[in-house]
Amino acid sequence: MNITLSHGSGGDATSKLIEEVFRSELHNEYLDRMEDSSVVPGGKRLALTTDSFVVQPLIYDGGDIGRLSVCGTVNDLLMSGAGPKYLTAGFVLEEGLDTELLKRIVHSMAETAQEAGVKIVAGDTKVIGHKGGKDDSPGLIINTAGVGFLDDALNVGAAFIREGDAIILSGNIGDHHAAIMKERLSIRNGNIKSDNAPLNEMVRGLLDGKVKVHAMRDVTRGGLGTVLNEFSRESGSDIYIIEEKLPVSDAVRDFSALLGLDIMYMGNEGKMVCAVAAEDKERAVDIIRSSRYGEGATIIGYAEKRETAGKGKLILKTGIGGERIVGPLYGEGLPRIC
Ligand code: MG
Repeated sequence: MNITLSHGSGGDATSKLIEEVFRSELHNEYLDRMEDSSVVPGGKRLALTTDSFVVQPLIYDGGDIGRLSVCGTVNDLLMSGAGPKYLTAGFVLEEGLDTELLKRIVHSMAETAQEAGVKIVAGDTKVIGHKGGKDDSPGLIINTAGVGFLDDALNVGAAFIREGDAIILSGNIGDHHAAIMKERLSIRNGNIKSDNAPLNEMVRGLLDGKVKVHAMRDVTRGGLGTVLNEFSRESGSDIYIIEEKLPVSDAVRDFSALLGLDIMYMGNEGKMVCAVAAEDKERAVDIIRSSRYGEGATIIGYAEKRETAGKGKLILKTGIGGERIVGPLYGEGLPRIC
């Protein structure tokens, strides 16, 4: 069966689609009430975020748009120090979309939501005409919004970065970006896989372990270069990164060299970078390494107070003893990686 415009009509076909595809996979005590909005138990301080997912292709080595749409929003909540709790999911389906493909994607969302400990408590479906070219199969866009709860005393953000903080990366960079690019270029390389994953375990580990975490970001679109520019700009500190400490798999290193891609701007979907008080840095690395998806964690640099007034800079210390200022990603990058 394929999606038709009637599946977006709000009538019988819509109800069937919701029952057969969405509710059967995503059901829980809140969603099952099928009210206009879900009423859920809450906390005093909330973290809220939203993100739309337009990745092409919809399914790629290591993941799919469904897994990505849960991980992306869950990770953004985690980076504020919040415990992710509830998601909403909005689906924009193109007419002609294969229902079996949609089921596979929704199933993957359900599995990932379970892994990340969140419930999808509200959803919406719209159908639009297929705008792609003749060879372009009908696709879908997913928007997920998320809510998480925060402890009263917890404040995490780039503005809290301090002199001497260690900059820790949770593992190899560039994997998701390379995996999408590989599919687009029809390059076969079994060693390149997306890293899309929810990072609950490593964040929980750091916070429960009372590690002094000053800032956290997931390394997504724009890559490490863009995220660390945000760290330096918001904190007013210079961030020094030691190039040879950057963890990159051999497969991704070769792939990026071949295509002339700068690893500093390649996106991930299952890695985070954090600024941690110097006295806690070894403990932080141990905690992340012992958590799921964090086995490659390593210290890649440090924050230093600027000698002259003004905004902080991101400085890459190269293998031959040089220093290079790395700006944020300008221009396009690779479109539709998330
Ligand atoms: Mg983020």
